[in-house]
Amino acid sequence: MGKAGVYIQVPFCQTKCTYCNFHTNIVSVGRFAPYAEAVCREICEHAALLRAAGVEWSEAQERAASEIVVVDTVYIGGGTPSLLEPALLADMLRALRETFACAWEEVTLEADPETIEAEKAVQWAAAGIQRISLGTQSFVDEELKAAGRLHRREDIYRAVPILRDAGICNISFDLIAGLPKQTRESWGTSLDELVALSPEHVSVYMMEIDEGSRLGLEVLQGGTRYSARDLPSEDEMAEFYETAQAILKAAGYEQYEISNWAKPGHASRHNLKYWRREAYLGFGAGAHSFSGTQRWANTHDAAAYVAAISAGRSAAESVERVTREQALEEELFLGLRQLGGIDLPRIQREYSVNLEEKVGRLASAGMIEREGELVRLAAGKLSISNEVIVELLR
Ligand code: SF4
Repeated sequence: MGKAGVYIQVPFCQTKCTYCNFHTNIVSVGRFAPYAEAVCREICEHAALLRAAGVEWSEAQERAASEIVVVDTVYIGGGTPSLLEPALLADMLRALRETFACAWEEVTLEADPETIEAEKAVQWAAAGIQRISLGTQSFVDEELKAAGRLHRREDIYRAVPILRDAGICNISFDLIAGLPKQTRESWGTSLDELVALSPEHVSVYMMEIDEGSRLGLEVLQGGTRYSARDLPSEDEMAEFYETAQAILKAAGYEQYEISNWAKPGHASRHNLKYWRREAYLGFGAGAHSFSGTQRWANTHDAAAYVAAISAGRSAAESVERVTREQALEEELFLGLRQLGGIDLPRIQREYSVNLEEKVGRLASAGMIEREGELVRLAAGKLSISNEVIVELLR
């Protein structure tokens, strides 16, 4: 029996955060229902739509599984999918149940704190949502305001008991290290407040400045509107990351990936599929999929997506076979992001490569550590992981 994850993309937000470079739209609520309907149709007709797009999904999966694919994790992300009426989210989950064999171990909804309401939370739980990934980002109002976020610290405190009372007891918080106006003290405050609320899972992302965002443009072109001058330096961000590692470890969280920590037993099963190169199907505008041999993505344009699916056409616009070289790069890149590291002999055997010399060199330089057959990034090098991985791939 083969297992697969399902990702559903909801590309709508109430406003645009200053640092955001995602393909999200601010649309009238009237656009939500037709979009959800298209997602349901894409789910129900996925086999024919993928075949038409040249994807070998069912064939590849069913051959490997020699019977059926069981969907065991679902992740509804965005955007801000918690903006949708709960009934629309329930429709999507129903479409999955009616289309696939499902044995759900983890069903996550991304939600922004200001969108959490008691009635919605009860309906989410009834629809099968078991886990909420809460876009907390910071507990400091000045930082949230500068970043263009709509929620404030008090919304986080309001949201958590609502979710727990509704029976959703697996909650993940996101924090961003490197927001404008963030200081060593304010970062410490966010971490302390997060730990006090005791979420089951924590993601800490390093701020990425992209010229596709308003903040990124201000960094390049100057200006004061988005507080680009109040961005912490790279050294400060690296220090924030290390502070997070220490505080979360002391609070009983296990770091299992460069950006992710969990209480024992609460690592994200769905996200582990991405890092372990396991199969997942994406539905919705901009959603990505991976079959093990091919990667593909739907068009980012929500209107074009709805138009294609409503006309019975596939919305996939890039279908690529993963070459052996790409697969090896992914194994190393994704494997080294995980604290468990990579099984070097397995990779060398599967890809007929010899990485011993490079690994030996990086180990001597203190970049990576070896423990028997496992190779992982050295504990103090996680904040510069990309440099180490590039060196290994060179
Ligand atoms: S909520 Fe997330 S997706 Fe939406 S604008 Fe902000 S950062 Fe971008």
